[in-house]
Amino acid sequence: MPEKLIFEISKKGKAGATLPHSEVPSLNPSDYLEEHLLRKNEIGLPEVSEVEAMRHFVNLSTKNHHVDKGFYPLGSCTMKYNPKINEKIAMMDGFSGLHPLSPPDCSQGALQIMRELDQYLCEIGGMDAVTLQPAAGAHGELTGLLIIRAHHIKNGNPRKKVLIPDSSHGTNPASINFAGYEPIQIQSGEGGLVDLARLETALNPEVAAIMITNPNTLGLFEKDILKVSELAHRYGVQMYMDGANLNACMGIVRPGDVGFDVVHFNLHKTFSTPHGGGGPGSGPVGVKAHLKPYLPLPVIEEKEGKLSLNYDRPESIGKIQAFWGAFGVMVKAYTYIRMLGAEGLKKTSEDAVLNANYLYALIKEYYDLGYPGTPMHEFVVSGLRYRNKGVKTLDIAKRLLDFGYHAPTIYFPLIVSEALMIEPTETESKDSIEDYARVLIEIAREAETNPQKLHDAPFNTPVRRLDERKAATDLILTWKDLKKNAK
Ligand SMILES: *Cc1c(COP(=O)(O)O)cnc(C)c1O
Repeated sequence: MPEKLIFEISKKGKAGATLPHSEVPSLNPSDYLEEHLLRKNEIGLPEVSEVEAMRHFVNLSTKNHHVDKGFYPLGSCTMKYNPKINEKIAMMDGFSGLHPLSPPDCSQGALQIMRELDQYLCEIGGMDAVTLQPAAGAHGELTGLLIIRAHHIKNGNPRKKVLIPDSSHGTNPASINFAGYEPIQIQSGEGGLVDLARLETALNPEVAAIMITNPNTLGLFEKDILKVSELAHRYGVQMYMDGANLNACMGIVRPGDVGFDVVHFNLHKTFSTPHGGGGPGSGPVGVKAHLKPYLPLPVIEEKEGKLSLNYDRPESIGKIQAFWGAFGVMVKAYTYIRMLGAEGLKKTSEDAVLNANYLYALIKEYYDLGYPGTPMHEFVVSGLRYRNKGVKTLDIAKRLLDFGYHAPTIYFPLIVSEALMIEPTETESKDSIEDYARVLIEIAREAETNPQKLHDAPFNTPVRRLDERKAATDLILTWKDLKKNAK
């Protein structure tokens, strides 16, 4: 049964809180406020008892899919399980109660956590310096591009264009535009990798950077990456790595060692912070030494055994985020890295790749790879062969919901038709991967024998098929919209 809106269970006069009788006489607002400041209408807040509020939100929480409830193989997004120890440490009084404006003298411990985290990220990424300020991956992209811009301006010309492969994540072209550059798409080669010949013709002194995800969004490792770096650097073009897929290569290959000048990390993917639904993220950016002067403010520095925040950096791109960034997320990532250690992080990536390859091996008779090759931590298959039965990838994704799974990423990357992008992550067991494979195979069989069933799916979810256009264009965002809609 669908859960009612809290406004619909509201009854006048109900309350979830009891306050002691007030001995202070109440005042009449109109004696103190000007007429135009007084509220004319009822405020319209829901009125419910404590137990009703509790049940309402608990019921809602069980309708939502989350990684603590079930398998969540959403490709590109690395929805892995987040160990609860991370939360426990981040909630320690000294961290959660720290005021963002407390002076460095009173926050040496917190600064030390940040300092050590940036050193770990330098080591993992093969970089010379890291800023922890950006609020998410896309914000890291913007920060990295602004740093690159500052570098080119210093050399006399900001340049105009940034090259991206056609498999790139949608945030890449958006960040490029935001940073004042024009995105130029490079068509992928036959194998789904960067096409060196096409890249070479696109390179010239007007190009500021090339932005590459590695492994790319097809889950394939860019095996010519050294050649790409060499070509780019010939023209002074900066190499930017979208590091959202770092879960595939920690401790195995470092972006800085294969020629990247800038990389952003997604702490809320690779380093295990719960995400989705707009929760706080963090997208630190690592740079090579020549880009260090442009890092955003402030930079943590150590002098005579004391840590301080340095704002006196004339070449910096400036402040890009309030206070210190998402400090709680940093503590979680720090805890995760310390808990696993160097060997553990390497094993994490090895297991992520192993799990993806095992899952693919189990289903490969039923789903074709978008591009041939050995996938890394995720793979992209195509549902194209079921199109002649009238079954679309959307139908397959909807049917998966009936079995208690989150659907994979679908229709991305755009260069694979009817794409299903699957990333099991290392935190899934052999059993859960085999169960999921069985379901994918069962659905493939249904596509052959009973396509109508897939059109009608899902059957077991709180709501069935939604009008996807309406859900994006006719938003109900206010109490007024809701009332209008109820009529
Ligand atoms: C998630 C992701 C991003 C963007 O990161 P956000 O934290 O969501 O802004 C960029 N590129 C790739 C490949 C991603 O998977």
